[in-house]
Parts: sequence; structure tokens; C-alpha cells
Amino acid sequence: MKVVIIGGVAGGATAAARLRRLDENAQIVMLERSGYVSYANCGLPYYVGGVITDRRKLTLQTPESFHDRFRIDVRVRQEAVEIDRESKAIKVRNLETGEVYRESYDKLILSPGAHAVIPNLPGIDSERIFTLRTVEDTFKVHGFVETARPASAVVVGGGFIGLEMAENLRDRGLDVTVVQRGGHVMPTLDADMAAIAHNHLRSHGVKLLLNSDVTGFEERADGAVQTNLAQSGPLAADMVVLAVGVAPESALAREAGLDLGARESIKVDEHMRTSDSDIYAVGDAVQVKNYVTGQDALIALAGPANKQGRIAADNICGGDSRYLGSQGSSVIKVFDMTIASTGVNEKTARQAGIDCDKVYLSPMSHAGYYPGGKVMTMKVVFEKGTLRLLGAQIVGYEGVDKRIDVLATAIHAGLTGPQLKDLDLAYAPPYSSAKDPVNMAGFMIENLSHGLVEQFFPEDVDALPRDGSVTLLDVRTPGEYADGHAEGFVNLPVDDLRER
Ligand code: FAD
Repeated sequence: MKVVIIGGVAGGATAAARLRRLDENAQIVMLERSGYVSYANCGLPYYVGGVITDRRKLTLQTPESFHDRFRIDVRVRQEAVEIDRESKAIKVRNLETGEVYRESYDKLILSPGAHAVIPNLPGIDSERIFTLRTVEDTFKVHGFVETARPASAVVVGGGFIGLEMAENLRDRGLDVTVVQRGGHVMPTLDADMAAIAHNHLRSHGVKLLLNSDVTGFEERADGAVQTNLAQSGPLAADMVVLAVGVAPESALAREAGLDLGARESIKVDEHMRTSDSDIYAVGDAVQVKNYVTGQDALIALAGPANKQGRIAADNICGGDSRYLGSQGSSVIKVFDMTIASTGVNEKTARQAGIDCDKVYLSPMSHAGYYPGGKVMTMKVVFEKGTLRLLGAQIVGYEGVDKRIDVLATAIHAGLTGPQLKDLDLAYAPPYSSAKDPVNMAGFMIENLSHGLVEQFFPEDVDALPRDGSVTLLDVRTPGEYADGHAEGFVNLPVDDLRER
């Protein structure tokens, strides 16, 4: 059996290694357009920021190491340019020599990833505008930062890559402004949770321009690039990083007549098989099911790509592995803060037509009496009636990653909110509390489900009667109240509540 893999990073490299482990005799060819395979996309921003200093650390494998360990024929700087399904062969262009040759296959795996979206705006071709996807892109940004010594940057897009670049450029001393089209950064979060991230970014000197649309760029005589905005005046900076999202790299699949899904992604079944039974596709290029809503979704993350690569290899080797859907579990470091989410947020749940409720809590990362504990803010979204867990968002410092993974597991297992209280989680004072934050969320949801508590949210306040039947209490300390409070709320600290 001869398997050809297009794309040699997350999904492709995993599929290649798995194929070899399952079939010692398969002929495996992996084609990669860039000069590197199995590179650490997720580590790229940290090379720019100087956290990762050895460029060799960015590539986990080389063509030689792949060949030595797995006897896989890895070819970098080779671009697949056409799939001929009829004769089961692909046309490949050697980017070093320009030569085009044919490579036959019995099974083909597409793992071409997603390309950075580059909006068609005036001035977009400026040499000072960068995107970040490949190792080569990273060296370009890094080289520019090292040699041109820019003092300022505009980062367009406040998603994962935008924020990671904002942090890393800030760490290198640049004056950084993040321009974001929507009302908040990190679209995986709801606006209320993102507000915490906004404060944190600002406290580290990152300027945020929200609800701002870029209309174009201009190169100025002084060497700066000017970012023009629809809602406010232009921004001048020494460089621009574009991180406005990714789109599936599906041109090959489209031209080969494979079925496509949302936003031109490649349609696959749960075995990762495309509409051609000899062609599999995995990773950022494919349409998946959202594990929580069951709707079609595009979720570009490394975990799903790796798992799907393994599944495609299993099935090619006669197995029956299935991909159950993506939950979108993610975590990001923003300076010293950790932001994580899993499942769907409240906005997405409502858009999917799910009648949902939510709890917010601000537990300590570990027992309050043990030094070093930090508050985290959690929002857990669940379905009304069934109490099925739908999603969670956590913003905080230590222990955020651990709680989100517990919640991700709970959602995957189909647990209800109150079942979180039953989870037997590890505890010692330096690590947690005897009632872990995840258990606490379970207690709260159980209280709601038993009717012990009724919740009102900030968005409900305006609709409450002002005829004296409702008292608006702010139960924080007088100091916290003095720092800022909602209009109409009377301060009555929680510790004084019974007495007064
Ligand atoms: P990729 O890993 O992108 O690999 C696709 C490869 O295919 C590319 O190298 C491309 O050159 C090659 N290719 C495309 N077309 C052809 C062709 N015609 N011929 C030959 N080769 C071709 N995800 C997380 O979960 N956590 C993170 O922290 C995180 N951080 C990230 C940071 C950055 C800067 C970037 C860019 C991505 C990050 N991601 C992160 C996303 C994650 O890297 C991707 O979801 C994952 O790599 C997708 O795997 P893939 O195999 O589908 O595509």
C-alpha cells in the first residue's frame, strides 16, 4: 500500500507516524510545501518574543529524523498542485527546481491546514505587514524585529495569535495596539469574561481599539505604516501583524471535485474520509461537528488535527476509528494570566437555539490559608431543564488549565452541572481546596436546580421593578464599592448582612 500525505505538520505528521506503527510495509510519502515538517506552530509567537531562543527547537522532527525513525519519505519544499482522482495520482511541484512530477497513491491524506486570512484592503502588500503561520513567516517577523528595531506595532485581530503576538512584541519593548473588529477580544469568550482580559492587557501596556474596522494601510514617508480605521483616526506604527483568522486551505480538494462544507472546508465523515473513499482529510481544513451543539463547525486547533490524523491512519490500515467532534477546548497565556474555555459560550449556545443558564464564581486557585493562591473567574454554561453542561470559560492565573480540562472531560462525558459536585478531585492546600472550584460550580448549579437560589444578572437589572419591592444590594467591602459600583446599588458588606 502506498499512502501519500499532503501537509507535514500537526495532522499530516501524526498520520504518517501512526501509519508506520500500524503497517511496517506501507510506502509512505509526506509532501510539505514549506521548508520544515512537524514544526511547532503553537510555539512560533514565543520565538518572536525571545522566550524560545533556539530556532532548532521549533522543529520537532526533520525529514532525516522522520526517515531514520519511521522510514517515511519526507519531501519539503514540494507542493501538491493537482489531484487526479481518476488515475489516483497527484502532481507535485518541486519548489527548489520548478520541476513538476507525478506521484501515485493508493490512499491520500490531505492535511493542508488553514491559511491566514489576508483581507483585500488598500496597501495590504506593504513589506511591514506580517502574518504568522509557518516557520518562515516567524523568521521574517523575528528578522524584522531584530534588524529594523521597530518601536511600535499594530496587531489587527484579537484572537489567539493576535494576543500571543501582542504579548510577545510587548515583551520586546514595542508599543502595541490591538485593533479588534468586535466588541471584545477572544471570540471564544463571552463579552463579560473577555472584559477581565481587556483589563489585564491594558495593565501590561497593550492598547485596545475595539469595535474598529481597518479600511486600509498606507506606507508613510517616515517608514511607518499607517493603519486606517473606519471609526477613528489612523494609527501609525513601525509594523503591522495581521491575525484576523484563518480559512481552510481547500483549493486542491475543490479542484479535485471533493465535497466541500462551510467556508469551503473539506467535508469528511466520522472516519475522516472525504467524498472520495480513497482520500482522507484532517485538521484545520476539514469541517467537523461541534461536539456540544451537533452543528457543523470549523475549529482550527492542534489537538483535533493530531487526533484526526491518527484516526485517518487507523482507518486506512483497516481499523474503525471515529472522530466524535470538536469541543474547542483551548488555553492561552496572556502575560501572567491564563484564559481557557471549552464547549460553547453563552452567545454560541443561544445562537444554536439552546435555552441555557449560567453560573459565575470566583474561587481561589488553592486553599486561601496557603500562600500564593490567586482568584480565578469561572463561568459555566448549562442547558436549562436537562442541566447538561454546555461550556465553561475561566480567566485567572494558576490552576485555570487544570479546571478547564476537568470541565472539558465532564462535558465530553455528558455530565450535568450538579454532577460536578460529585467529582472526587485531588486536594492538598498548595493545589486546591477541599471543595475544588469545579465542585463549587456543581453546588451552585444544584442550588439553582433545587430552587434554593434565583439568579439575576447585570443584564436583568434594568427590567427589575423600581417600586420598592426590589432592593439592589452590593455586598462587597466598602473599599471595593468605593472603587466603582453600579448605579442604584446600596453597599451592605456580606459580613454585616445578618446583623443589619
Ligand atoms: P498545519 O499544521 O498548519 O499543517 C499544514 C501544512 O500543510 C503546512 O505546513 C502547509 O505548508 C502544508 N501544505 C498546505 N498545502 C500544501 C500543498 N498543496 N502541498 C504541500 N504542503 C501543503 N492550536 C492550538 O491548539 N493551541 C495553540 O496554542 C496554537 N497556537 C498556534 C499559534 C500559531 C502561530 C499558529 C499559526 C497556529 C496555532 N495553533 C494552535 C493552531 C494549530 O497549529 C493548528 O490547528 C494545527 O497545526 C492544524 O494542523 P493541520 O495539520 O491541519 O495544519
